[in-house]
Amino acid sequence: MAAKLRIKCPHCKEASNIHTIQDACPECGKPLNVSTEGCIYIYRQGSPMGVAGRFGLYINEQPYGYIGNRELLCLPLPFGTYVIHSAVGMSRKCRDLQVTISPEHPTAYTKVYMRAGFWTNSFVVEPVDPKLLDL
Ligand SMILES: [Zn+2]
Repeated sequence: MAAKLRIKCPHCKEASNIHTIQDACPECGKPLNVSTEGCIYIYRQGSPMGVAGRFGLYINEQPYGYIGNRELLCLPLPFGTYVIHSAVGMSRKCRDLQVTISPEHPTAYTKVYMRAGFWTNSFVVEPVDPKLLDL
């Protein structure tokens, strides 16, 4: 499965997909200086209910764009600890996941999915076996 590179521009703060880490920001055209230290993969597990809406992604409470159904993103990031959160509209309940990328473990593999609730849906972010991502 091909992962899309998702970056957050340090200049205009927009989250965009880019093709290579050499790309400039598609929004403001400035150089992104993408980190090549580590990467967080985020896969959105397909929903059996066929919910096609986009999930909002947040990294350390910063908006990071959206993830579509069965989409796989790769977020190049410097070494550090990150909290991954997802939300859509009024559905803001999420079991967040904290991951650390380091020289020993530069890559984190995660998935996000929606769990239907009686009153409200909630989101879950979990580690995923990289074999399932078929990278
Ligand atoms: Zn920009």
